[in-house]
Parts: sequence; structure tokens; C-alpha cells
Amino acid sequence: MTNFEVRAYDAAGRLGELTVPRAGVTVETPTILPVVNPHVQTVEPSTLESEFGAEILITNSYILHGSEDLRDPALDRGLHDLLDFSGAIMTDSGSFQLSEYGEIDVTTEEILQFQRDIGSDIGTPVDIPTPPDVDREQAESELATTQDRLERAVDADTGEMLVTAPVQGSTYPDLRERAAKDAKSTGLDVFPLGAVVPLMNEYRYADLADVVAACKRGLGESGPVHLFGAGHPMMFAMAAALGCDLFDSAAYALYARDDRYLTVRGTEHLDDMEYFPCQCPVCTDHTPAELAGMAEKVRGELLARHNLYVTYGEIRTVRQAIRSGTLLELVDTRARGHPTMLDGYRALLDHAEQLERTDRVSKGTFFYTSAESARRPEVLRHHERLDRFDIEGDEVLLTEGGSNDRYDETWGVRPPFGPYPRELGDTYPLTAEVPDRMDRAAHEAAADGVTRFVELHPDVSFTLVHDDWAATALERVPERVRLRDLHARE
Ligand SMILES: [Zn+2]
Repeated sequence: MTNFEVRAYDAAGRLGELTVPRAGVTVETPTILPVVNPHVQTVEPSTLESEFGAEILITNSYILHGSEDLRDPALDRGLHDLLDFSGAIMTDSGSFQLSEYGEIDVTTEEILQFQRDIGSDIGTPVDIPTPPDVDREQAESELATTQDRLERAVDADTGEMLVTAPVQGSTYPDLRERAAKDAKSTGLDVFPLGAVVPLMNEYRYADLADVVAACKRGLGESGPVHLFGAGHPMMFAMAAALGCDLFDSAAYALYARDDRYLTVRGTEHLDDMEYFPCQCPVCTDHTPAELAGMAEKVRGELLARHNLYVTYGEIRTVRQAIRSGTLLELVDTRARGHPTMLDGYRALLDHAEQLERTDRVSKGTFFYTSAESARRPEVLRHHERLDRFDIEGDEVLLTEGGSNDRYDETWGVRPPFGPYPRELGDTYPLTAEVPDRMDRAAHEAAADGVTRFVELHPDVSFTLVHDDWAATALERVPERVRLRDLHARE
């Protein structure tokens, strides 16, 4: 019995549906869970639902558990009534407080029971969030504790409430992968990737990509993956392409409190803005100067609303990109917002082989938008599949130009893919839109395709006719291939 169904893939990105039985709702993913502080609500949960279409939110059961004011009302009335929200409610357990203050006063059994009692739809055990870069011994021993908590969670009587199995392991890819396998084997329902906030706070998007990729290797395609504490819209596309389905964040409110304005390219400070580059109601009705002149509380709420519009807008943008098979083009665009995002994108492409496994075989059109496009999963897949074709004949022409009867067989060549049977020239991804001014990366990727193909056929004699390829690309082609430039005079 699974509560999560994938409807479409793009790279490792997934359009999915998470059924939350206790709430009686189905949540479309990828999505964001706004963090709602039970004590201070910058934007009311009912507004999140009516104005922003929130289907799910997250709040902290540990805060409620320890609150003299709210504990009894939560138990008497239930979370949905207390917060006035009819969608799905996920609760955190106090693990964050544990990592901040070193101790908390509940056990996994107690907090899961409390979460069930207050009507949470998705509960969380008390895992140990191990920060990045700790020594391996600490990462391993805390992981053992987390695993023990997960097993306790499996044994607990949680009724219809879904239960999460957080994946820890610090910045050790092998520990993350092992932790993910263990989390998967518990049979629990949702998989939060824990303790990644420090990586995001330090703009370490390449390390983040490696951590997520490692976790995904262990999890496979089971269950929704929750990138815990990820709330900046600039990184949704990248995280989704790696296979994350759920994000959560207090950023919309916390940033607003500091006059910070979220965009899909990064963060702006209200004081530095003369114009709002956004079409949401807040930005249409106000100028930055007007907002700056308002009372702090009103200003904070308006900024929080803008931040939510951008956040939900980007979630829809990511969903549409997965639907139309353009998620990697979106990641490429977002990667230009900050050099560290570009690092993240490049690290993501280091895992192209892993992403290729779920990538769609056919999409609309491959757009070659940057040198990074040469490393996309589609290029890798094309190279891998070159072993599916036979060659009849001893003399083969590989060319970017027309065929030539002097050869037994003519194959097309198209950067960044390399050689292809001419009858497949009209199929994805060979129909790619590429710039006239091709770059070295595309030539090098094509050269790698040529090399792979040539090595598959050691007894065949090859001639490659290329259109002014970079020297660095030609150097990659085996010496036994005769080279000619398409435009050179014979
Ligand atoms: Zn706006």
C-alpha cells in the first residue's frame, strides 16, 4: 500500500500525488509546506489556503507540547480547528530544538502519541540532525540513534497518521545512502532529508546536490522526499530535478521580518529597491518606497505575502516544467541567478547517469541553452545507446554534412550528441534546438559520442566530417579516425 503516486518524470523530478488519509486529502507535488508558528502567524493558515491554494502546511508539535496556552486547546479541539486549516497538517517533533539547544524533554514515543492526539496528519519521530562536516564517528553514532528512533516509530501505534523517516548522515554520501536504504526499509511514509539547512545558509548548493543525490540512491523511487527547511524559491527547480517532492519553509515570514524580498534569482533588501519586479497584488499595488514607509507589522505582512506569491508561483513553474519536459532548461535558467547555484547545477550534472534512469525518453524539444546542456542525461543516454546499432560495411562516414556514395554507410553527427543513424534524425533529442555558434563543450560531448561509437566497432574504418570543431574536441577522437572539416577545400 503506497500513499504516493508519480504521474510524470523529468530527469529525477516528479509530478506526484501524496494521499494523506487522516486529512482525507490528496496533495499535489512538488509542493511547499509553509511553516506555521502556532504562537505567531504572519499570514493566517486560512489565508494560506484561500489565497495561496496551500494544500498542506507544517507546524511544530514540540512547541505545542510545551505551551501552557496551546497544549490543552490543541488536545481538545485538534490542530485543524486550532489553526483553522482544512488541508493536510504535518508536524515536526522537536528535532530542530534538539539540534539548537542540545536537549529536549520528550521521547519519540511520547511525541508521536501527542502528534496523533492533536490530530496531526503526518507525524515525525525525534531524529538527530547531524550538521555538515562533523567527524565521521559522530555522524555514524548519531545515525545509529536516528535509526533506533525510526524503529521505535514503526512500533508505535500511530493509526492513520503518516509517519516520516528522516534521513541523516551529515555530508558523507555513503552514510546518507545507507541511512536512506535503512529509512526505506522501515516502510514509513515520507522521507525528509535532514540537516541540510546549514548547507543552504552557506550557499553550498554543490554539496547539497551531492547529499540529495546520495539520499536518492538509497531511497530509489519509494515515497515522497522532503527537503527539510528548504524554502527559497531560487533552489526549488534544482532540488526538484534531483528528486525532491516536498519543501518547507519559514523563509517567507522570517525574511519578511528583516525587510527581505524573495525572487527566483535570489534575495533583495527592500531598502535597495526602487521597483518591484513582480506582478503579485502586493507589488502591483505598492512601490518599495510606500512599503518602506509603513508600520513594521503591516510591512512585514505584505512582504510575507509577496514572498508567498513568489514561492507558490515557482512551485507551479516547476510543476509545469516537469509536465512539459523542460525542467532542466528551468534549472539552467535559475542557475544563472548566483554563481553558487551554477555550482549546484554542475554538481547535479555529475549525477546525470542517476538522473537518466527516470528521465523521459521523449520530450518536446531539447534546448541547448548553455555549455552545461552538453552534460545533460539525454546526451549520456544517447552515448549509452550507441551499442544498439549494427554497422554493415567496412568504410563508414560520420558527418555533419550530406551523405557520400564512396562510403558503405553514412551516419549523421550532431553536437552535443555525436553520431546517429540518419533515419533517427527526427526523433528526440536529436531534434534539439542549438545555437549557430556552438561551444567547445558541445563539440567535446559529440567527440565522446564518436569515440564510444568507434570503440564499439574496432574493425570498421571511420571518417569524421565535422563543422569546425574545437581542437580540444578533435583531440578526444581516436587517432585511427580520419578527420575532415566540413568547409575545408579538398
Ligand atoms: Zn510581488
